[in-house]
Parts: sequence; C-alpha cells; structure tokens
Amino acid sequence: MSVQTPQNSEPASPATVSLPTYEDVVAAAQRIDGAAHRTPVLTSRTADERTGGRLFFKAENFQRGGAFKFRGAYNAIARLSPDARKRGVVAFSSGNHAQAIAYAGQLQGVPTVIIMPQDAPAMKVAATKGYGGEVVLYDRYKEDREAIGRKLSQERGLTLIPPYDHEDVIAGQGTATKELIEEVGPLDMLLVCVGGGGLLAGSALASKALSPDCRIYGVEPEAGNDAQQSFRTGSIVRIPVPATIADGAQTTYVGNKTFPIMRALAEDILTVSDAQLVDTMRFFVERMKIVVEPTGCLAAAAALHGMVPCKDKRVGIIISGGNVDPRALAGFLAG
Ligand SMILES: *Cc1c(COP(=O)(O)O)cnc(C)c1O
Repeated sequence: MSVQTPQNSEPASPATVSLPTYEDVVAAAQRIDGAAHRTPVLTSRTADERTGGRLFFKAENFQRGGAFKFRGAYNAIARLSPDARKRGVVAFSSGNHAQAIAYAGQLQGVPTVIIMPQDAPAMKVAATKGYGGEVVLYDRYKEDREAIGRKLSQERGLTLIPPYDHEDVIAGQGTATKELIEEVGPLDMLLVCVGGGGLLAGSALASKALSPDCRIYGVEPEAGNDAQQSFRTGSIVRIPVPATIADGAQTTYVGNKTFPIMRALAEDILTVSDAQLVDTMRFFVERMKIVVEPTGCLAAAAALHGMVPCKDKRVGIIISGGNVDPRALAGFLAG
C-alpha cells in the first residue's frame, strides 16, 4: 500500500494535498536532535502478563513540555525562513501544542503568540508565559480563535502553526516512533492515540518504513469517535465537541493531511471508554510509577483492556503526555 504523496518538486495544484514522507521524519529527527529528549522506552512485567504480549511503552510524558508536541513544534519552527523567524509565530490551543510552541520558540529565539481561552487553567497560562510566549486571551463563547489568529498573523506577519494538520508538525511527531523502533527493533503492532491525527500520521510513516509488517492502530475516546467514523467511511466526519476526560483528543475532525496518511497506512481506529482511561491511569501510577494524562492513556488502555489481541505480539505503545493537574489526578485515582 502506498500513500499518494506528491513530490515536493512538483507544482502543487489546488486539488493536491502535499503530504509528508518518511524522509521528512528523518530530516525532522536531525533537526530536533539535541533539543528534544530521546525519551525512555519502558516495559512492565505486569503489563506483559496481563496482555500475554511484550509491550514497549515510549514515554513521551518525559518529553520537554510534558508531551510529544514539542517534537512537531520544534521542527516546524526550525523550518522557518530567517525572515519568518524574526517576525514570529502564532498558535491557538489551550493545551500541549501551545506550551510546545512557546517552549520551542524560546529555545530557538523566535517570538511566539499563543491564543488561549479566557477560562484556560491558570496553570497552563502561567506555563505558557513562563516559556516566553505572549498570551492573547479570548472569549471562547463569543469570539473565533481562528479569526483572531488570522488577524494577528496578517497584522504582525506571524506564521500560524496548527496543532496537527501541517507537514512539519506531522514529520516531527513521527520521530517518537522512529526512536522507538530503532531502539527495540521491529514490532508486530503499534498503538497510537488520535486527536487530529498528527501523531498517528507521523508514527505510521515511521513504522511503515522501519517495520513494514507492523499493524498500526489509532485509539480515540469512545465518546468522540470521529476518526473511527472517518476511517471506516473513507471521508472526514465532523462531530460536536465530545464529553471525555481525554482533553487532548477532544478534536472534532481529523486533518486533510493526517487523514489520507492514516487511511492508507493504519489497520483500524479503536475506541476506549473514560472508565478504561482511569483504570489505565491508575495502572501507570501503581505499577509503573509514572504520571500519564488521560489522553496519554488511550493507546495503553486499548492493549490493557483487550480491544486488540496482544498475545505473543511485540507491541509498541505511545504514551503521549503527562500534563495532568495533580488535584485532577488525585480525583481520578480516588474515584
Ligand atoms: C495533542 C495530543 C494528542 C493528540 O494528538 P494529535 O496529533 O492531535 O492526534 C494526544 N495526546 C496528547 C497528550 C496530546 O497533547
């Protein structure tokens, strides 16, 4: 199976979506080398006994900024022209992408403007400012953040870096799986969480190149199965904002660039319930002694709850992030 990836040298026609390739993942790995952490791969005898397989957890909760998003953000900023770097970048997000852009911008001396909702958690606003990001707050019930982003980018010549539907972002996210397979060898199966699909698309590019027989599954929250619907029907399905504790996967549709890649390279999209995410969060704390945010538990939950058989298989699992408020974590664990 191959993805239709127009060559970069071909002029893009309006109908053509230019997609990243594994070569872009390799180039991204070189760009982020020394800046992003090469995160550890964890194993757990208990997880192996529970599933009957051999599980390899790529721990992006230990990535800079606490999530894999740093990889794509750093790569996208590194690709800017000197002129664009001077003017700066803008991103809108209340979550890990915003922090990653601010942090990656700070490290590369590029000014960043982050558009966040007025009611974003104070901790996230403070973290973003702490990384040197200029925070612009908006009223999410009355104002359109994309319009604000466009206005700012026109007025100040800022480059907008979206959270997932962007070639350099996808290529950067793919570096986590590249590292994983280079470290542990070929896999039978790879489980990756899906929000907008940047991580899944990048992971799929790396996995197909380095471990061609590996079956790739996306995992999303049951309440927000837009990627599953899109994957199974063959066109992008939009849903209302889903009610789930997996706030990093509350996206309502996958991207024009991420979708064709996942459709071509993934086996299927699976779903897990919020209760299964809580159980998995508890598993990580009790058994593996690590803090993982609800969205970061999606892929592991699918394995630990038997959504896909792991028996006698070598299974890669991406733990996508660990940014959870300690009080919220305590509440999940106590519940
Ligand atoms: C952004 C995010 C996701 C979803 O990633 P996509 O590339 O949008 O699919 C999953 N987990 C965490 C922790 C995230 O920050």
